[in-house]
Amino acid sequence: MDTKLQNLLDFNIEQLEEAVKAMGQPKFRTKQLWEWLYKGADFSDMTNLPESFRMSLAEKYRAGRLKIKAKLCSKVDDTIKYLFDLGDGNLVESVLMKYKYGYSACVSTQVGCKMGCTFCASTKAGFVRNLSSGEILGQIVSMNADMNIRIGHVVLMGIGEPLDNYDNVLDFLRKAQNEKGLGISYRNISLSTCGLAEKVIQLSEEKLPITLSISLHSPFDSQRSEMMPVNRKYPLDKLLDACNIYTLSTGRRITYEYALIEGVNDTKEHAARLISLLKGKLCHVNLIPVNKVEGTGYEKASKKNIAAFQEMLEKGGVNATVRRTLGQDIEAACGQLRRAANENKI
Ligand code: SAH
Repeated sequence: MDTKLQNLLDFNIEQLEEAVKAMGQPKFRTKQLWEWLYKGADFSDMTNLPESFRMSLAEKYRAGRLKIKAKLCSKVDDTIKYLFDLGDGNLVESVLMKYKYGYSACVSTQVGCKMGCTFCASTKAGFVRNLSSGEILGQIVSMNADMNIRIGHVVLMGIGEPLDNYDNVLDFLRKAQNEKGLGISYRNISLSTCGLAEKVIQLSEEKLPITLSISLHSPFDSQRSEMMPVNRKYPLDKLLDACNIYTLSTGRRITYEYALIEGVNDTKEHAARLISLLKGKLCHVNLIPVNKVEGTGYEKASKKNIAAFQEMLEKGGVNATVRRTLGQDIEAACGQLRRAANENKI
């Protein structure tokens, strides 16, 4: 795959129409080509297009389907982890999960991450580059094609900070939702952020009915700033103000992600402070037993502590659930597979 070639999944329909016209093809070829691209097809698969057209397309462009560098299938559940090769030496991870209601994909938005959260594997080797909207879409169309399925839910919880790649992520959301694109309803898309408050406000102005997840992880500014450097710029009061604006503007309930780390953020004081911050808000807390990442020293909170923490929140009037962990045996948590590959472990 030549990355100097333009990725056709980066195009919107008007741009594709222009490209088709410039190649001397009739207008109806745009629709045919568009449909193939969203099916994750390569030019050689596009059998209803003339061969000469397919050859000229391959000289100038690339279809958005990504090369699978590694694929790990969980033996304990139906989770599959993909490592995709972007064609320029960079790798990103995506995870496919099977639920009762269908398939859900967790996709990456950047190669690496600038945010520096101490517990997260994705940020350890720093930031390389943003993904284009076509590269984010490419992860989904490639999994659809590989498994012969139709992914109906998407979470932007893979590698990277989606709001630090705002324009491309917005372009992705629109194309993913477009019925001529992937046709995934906004309500089935979740965007997770470490808390770029200004961008949360900007996103609220788009009025997209997606689910916003905020990675909170500590209700105390001093501790959160240590765990998540973004908190030094946008402390909790600024972040929660931005979240209020988001709820007012979209009417959507916000999810707060809280990874429980033994002896670090799983105490009664943490639960009490969390209640005082969130009580009365249209929100939900998602408690996640932290995934162990080599070199962080963090351990999962005990089952007993997790249950007690949840009970305290519920009693305090804050809705909370414990996230089921899928794909434990394949290191399905974000950033871990790319890290292993970069260290030549796979
Ligand atoms: N940058 C975005 C999205 C990517 S991370 C964000 O920060 O939200 C997706 C989620 O996984 C976030 O809630 C993140 O805080 C969480 N996460 C990262 N490392 C983790 C770990 N070791 N254990 C549990 N959750 C983790």
